[in-house]
Amino acid sequence: MKSFVLSIVLVNSLLSFDYKLKPQEVSEDVYCFFGLPQVMDKHNNGNMSNSCFVNMGTSYLVCDSGPTYQYAKQAYSQMKKIQNLPISYVVNTHVHDDHWLGNSYYKEQGVTIIGSTAFKELPKLEKTRMQLRISSEAFKGTTQEFPTVFVEKEKVLKINGKKVYIKSVNHKAHTNSDLFVYIPNKKVVFVGDLVFNERLPSLRDGDISGWIDALQKIKEMKVKYVIGGHGDIVETTAVDFTYNYLVKLKTQVKKLLDEGVEIADVVDAVKMDEYKDIPFYDSIHRQNVETVYRMLEWEDE
Ligand SMILES: [Zn+2]
Repeated sequence: MKSFVLSIVLVNSLLSFDYKLKPQEVSEDVYCFFGLPQVMDKHNNGNMSNSCFVNMGTSYLVCDSGPTYQYAKQAYSQMKKIQNLPISYVVNTHVHDDHWLGNSYYKEQGVTIIGSTAFKELPKLEKTRMQLRISSEAFKGTTQEFPTVFVEKEKVLKINGKKVYIKSVNHKAHTNSDLFVYIPNKKVVFVGDLVFNERLPSLRDGDISGWIDALQKIKEMKVKYVIGGHGDIVETTAVDFTYNYLVKLKTQVKKLLDEGVEIADVVDAVKMDEYKDIPFYDSIHRQNVETVYRMLEWEDE
């Protein structure tokens, strides 16, 4: 009997992955599961981005649903330990799959999922990047479920008498369509991947000038907490890391571009050594320089 029970436990653990999620309290009623500063792989199984939730009194509002069905399921069971409430809405800040594949669990619960208009044009892939890189046990149950409510410019929700503003950046920044979620009475704004701390951001799908512009607007907001898509700094200083990196990168590349330096030499020259110990420097920084060179070259024309 003992071995029978043991084998059932073993079979179950082989069929699922325990993300060992622990919610961190940011401020009263505001919590996050902070992801690791890593690329998605078979060890973290996608637990490398932030998924947050706000206790609105009668329900939870979830900002970004995490990387898999099982992650979201385990996240909700942690939320219920704090207070057993239903989820009213899930918001997907942008289309990168580490931020929304958890939708598959929330959809099953009948939750309304809100996202940017970019989801309308997003193709359903045979296999997402996440599925290719993490273990099949962790990915089990995950399907590509897109939002059904889209935010063109701004959408205001009223949950339990409190206003929640979901705003679109309205120009290319981290992606061509980024949302942020502002809750005035909690003095918090969830900005998705407009803000990274602890690791370098990738400019692959973005626009450096639009991104800097969006961050300037976020810096002007009268909030106490700015919660990004990666990294666990939540004070308003959370913006500084991404902002400073992007401004320095743009300034240095632009200067050399204006001097007529060729792209390959610019990539070699703009080293920004002060970032070399930051995770993702080796894999992303040179690419970012090249991407920015091409963007600015285009902007100049
Ligand atoms: Zn992203």
